[in-house]
Amino acid sequence: MQSHILDSLSSRVVQPREESTQIADQQSSFVEAQEHLAAIVQSSDDAIISKNLAGIIQSWNPAAERIFGYTSEEAIGQHISMLVVPERIEEIPNILERIGHGERIDHYETRRKTKDGRVLTVSLSISPVRNRSGSVIGASKVARDITDQTRTRQALQAANDSLVRSVADLEQFTYSASHDLREPLRTVCTSAELLRASLAGKIDDGEAELLQYIISGVMRMEQLLSDLHAFTRLSSEGEKPEELDSAAVLPQVLSNLQSAIEESGAIVTHGALPVVHLHKFQMEQLLQNLLSNAIRYRSERPLKIHVDASRTDASWKFSVTDNGIGIDPQYTEQIFGVFKRLHSFTEYPGTGMGLAICQRIVQRAGGGIWVESEPGKGSTFFFTLPAAQS
Ligand code: ADP
Repeated sequence: MQSHILDSLSSRVVQPREESTQIADQQSSFVEAQEHLAAIVQSSDDAIISKNLAGIIQSWNPAAERIFGYTSEEAIGQHISMLVVPERIEEIPNILERIGHGERIDHYETRRKTKDGRVLTVSLSISPVRNRSGSVIGASKVARDITDQTRTRQALQAANDSLVRSVADLEQFTYSASHDLREPLRTVCTSAELLRASLAGKIDDGEAELLQYIISGVMRMEQLLSDLHAFTRLSSEGEKPEELDSAAVLPQVLSNLQSAIEESGAIVTHGALPVVHLHKFQMEQLLQNLLSNAIRYRSERPLKIHVDASRTDASWKFSVTDNGIGIDPQYTEQIFGVFKRLHSFTEYPGTGMGLAICQRIVQRAGGGIWVESEPGKGSTFFFTLPAAQS
């Protein structure tokens, strides 16, 4: 009986002691958390500043001192506008009003000044600070100095803009030059042909041959300039490509190449061809350049050419396959370069611009072009184009 009384007494006495231990524990973990937060603020690389709704600075961490040059003694109690450059002064009432409405401001890029008058580009993130009852009583602001970053970005942008301008100037120059130079060439060609006609029978074979060299040289140069002109023209056509049924383009291309097809005895077959996003004349040019190459670079075997297309994710992969002379694997990339050829003009006539034009067309449309080939067996040229949205 007595021990019961003692037990109940002791439990009554022990209870308050446990509660107070719990409270003490809570208090100490709260203090620990506070200290932890304070350490984060102290060691942050970003300025962390708090202010009240009147804009008066309440706290100022070491990074704020490092970035803006004011010590915490100098800054606390001052109005936040001491950091603002004159042309941005109207931002302050605006920011304070938004904060007063409980709004957060994220990654706001602006300019602020330091104690010694330097102007910095800063990225600000400002959040409202609330009291226990939830009313906004001020704001905490994290300011990151992005001056160097911004300068680098601006320098890069300026370099890029100037590069774009230079490329555009160069393209405009090539476009005009390749057009204008053809005019005097035509005069040379016509005059040489007239001369040949008027000298017929009066000059020997060697002299006639020399005249012929002049005429064919000039004609070749004319063709080179014409292809170069077509190549540069591709960049000045900026309108958005229409939806195009590529199957409808092939008959026109085959008709353009009719005499070459007949002369070579080529058998051209094709699979189902899709609707794509491309200008009609560009699709014509693409298929025509690839098919005329397949005809020109044929072997002794009866020529077979097959045009096909298959779907891959968001694009169509076209293929033009021939059983011609093929291409040495070491040249399969360089043949897409401007004026790049693997044969002499007398062996296989051409300007070396056909594949460069094809590449430019598909790249501008967001696709790619490549070739797989085996010398002596044939080649397959592949190109991709974005599929039309159904
Ligand atoms: P061109 O045919 O006027 O020389 P292209 O740019 O069309 O210019 O082709 C570049 C080179 O690629 C050609 O000179 C040729 O050597 C090679 N080539 C292109 N298509 C084929 C093909 N179907 N088969 C073999 N070689 C080819």
